[in-house]
Amino acid sequence: MDKQQTLKYYFGYDAFRPLQEEIVDAILAKQDVLMVLPTGGGKSLCYQLPSLLMEGITVVISPLLALMYDQVVALKANGISAAMLSSMQELEESMQIQEQLKKGEIKLLYVAPERLTNDYFLALLHRLPINFFVVDEAHCVSEWGHEFRENYRKLSLLKEQFPSVPVAAFTATATKAVEQDIIANLGLINPKRVRGSLFRSNLIINARHRIGDGREQLIEFLKAYQNDSGIIYTLSRKSTEAVARFLQARGVMAKAYHAGLPTEEKNSVYGDFVADKVQIVVATIAFGMGIDKSNIRFVVHMSLPKTLENFYQEIGRAGRDGLSSETLLLFSAQDIVQQKMFIDDLPETPYREHAYYKLESMVRFANSEGCRHQSVAAYFDDRIEICKDKCDNCDTSPAEKIDITEAAQKLLSAIWRTGQTYGLHYVVDVLRGSKEQRLVKNGHNTLSVYSIGEEYSKSQWLTIGDKLLELHAIEIGEFKVYKLTSFGAEVIRGMHRIDLKKERLSIKNAEPKKSMSSFDDYNVGIYDKLKELRIRIASVNNIPPYIIFSDKTLKDLSIKLPQNKNEMLEVHGVGEVKFERYGEEFLALLASRA
Ligand code: ADP
Repeated sequence: MDKQQTLKYYFGYDAFRPLQEEIVDAILAKQDVLMVLPTGGGKSLCYQLPSLLMEGITVVISPLLALMYDQVVALKANGISAAMLSSMQELEESMQIQEQLKKGEIKLLYVAPERLTNDYFLALLHRLPINFFVVDEAHCVSEWGHEFRENYRKLSLLKEQFPSVPVAAFTATATKAVEQDIIANLGLINPKRVRGSLFRSNLIINARHRIGDGREQLIEFLKAYQNDSGIIYTLSRKSTEAVARFLQARGVMAKAYHAGLPTEEKNSVYGDFVADKVQIVVATIAFGMGIDKSNIRFVVHMSLPKTLENFYQEIGRAGRDGLSSETLLLFSAQDIVQQKMFIDDLPETPYREHAYYKLESMVRFANSEGCRHQSVAAYFDDRIEICKDKCDNCDTSPAEKIDITEAAQKLLSAIWRTGQTYGLHYVVDVLRGSKEQRLVKNGHNTLSVYSIGEEYSKSQWLTIGDKLLELHAIEIGEFKVYKLTSFGAEVIRGMHRIDLKKERLSIKNAEPKKSMSSFDDYNVGIYDKLKELRIRIASVNNIPPYIIFSDKTLKDLSIKLPQNKNEMLEVHGVGEVKFERYGEEFLALLASRA
């Protein structure tokens, strides 16, 4: 079989996605590889497919057991022999896998990085015909990434011990600096480097200032997702339980998940979520790492994550099947204070400085009124066009904005008139005509700007100040004093207009948007029936439903209504192997409806 046939036969796809083929070709040509592609971009296929076309065994190093497990199950469902070796296995099972490896019965072997420091395992690897190594989640080798893992550091031994075996590294998130780290640490030689655009066009990204505890905003948001899977992230264990209880009381099938729960309960929540039996999981960041469930339709953050890396990874869990999905970030100034306190508690190291920088980037993103996709991408050194309609900022109509040019001029003038030597609170007090002693003593109650800003509350003025900071009309100098920039001076002279989203001044809250599906024409009735059949087959075979067919496949089935094998093979995500296993049952269901 050639590349194209293998793609169709085993994976059920008609064409490679952009960049996939380049990587497949490089691996087939035995070149080292570094690929940066967002979650859901289709990285796994880039090494699974060449593995099938090459002699020998491919060893995949992955940091998470859950992820490995899902991959192995998915591969087996496609008729590809794969296995994992982990310290959690019984000796007998692991011996059996080793036997199969020696007999050449396994194509892809998944292992955790710590395995490679085990001499016995290394000796085994030396006896096997390895065609290439795969390092998944390769950003874990870098200290500048957000998930540095000591064990990943040791992966330099791959090239030391197996100099003639190519290494292919994959990650969803890497700045240019992290890319360099990966290449240096793994010792990649003249690697084929491919960087996909970080733009996830099927994600609609929203961020809003949280009102109170944000629960009413959450309920509003969930109205569009009554039967869809989603994850809600909260900061603490306690709040996962509180939010889950709140949703349950409103009749929503939600469960809490955090590291403090008994293992059994965690497994059952995870299993039920994957099997579509629990609609929503309310979790701390302990949940979802490596989760492969492709039909997660939304991800909500009830408070600010500490880095954009975390944020991007977490929202990345939505919409892996390529269908439209939505994310909502709720945040407040309190979150920022709390996150700062966490960092303050760290020992004073360059790492701590870096943590402040990362938090600032996260805050800037949350407050920003620019395109969300563009600003996340920029953080990872990727330049993209504005999304136009896939984020709240681009989608805000002019009616939802107000012209604050005059207010901005007042604030900037007050900063100027008070000598650019005060913090923002003080300047706002001047604007609002405060009778505070210090202010009177400084004679600032006689300034022309004194008490010209009573139309806004103090907190509204602080928001306007934030906006001017974002626009770099002002900057913060030593001792937290505010100073004008040249852009700020131009604003005073009336050379620029400044707009602000109304909701930031709590004048009116924007309505949550409905998500639009790109497979809009599917037949809901048939789709629901197909979903039921999928759940039945899944529970009989004890595998997650999305492994059988993705939501996208079911939607395509409900549109194309195939009547025989050939027609069914035309459907997205249906290959020979899947057809052999499940095709007839689905055809029978479709026929019974005709
Ligand atoms: P990543 O590992 O980059 O997060 P995956 O490998 O899990 O992404 O792929 C994401 C989704 O895209 C999966 O549902 C996969 O089946 C699908 N996919 C991958 N390659 C293709 C392709 N060439 N055509 C259609 N769908 C694809």
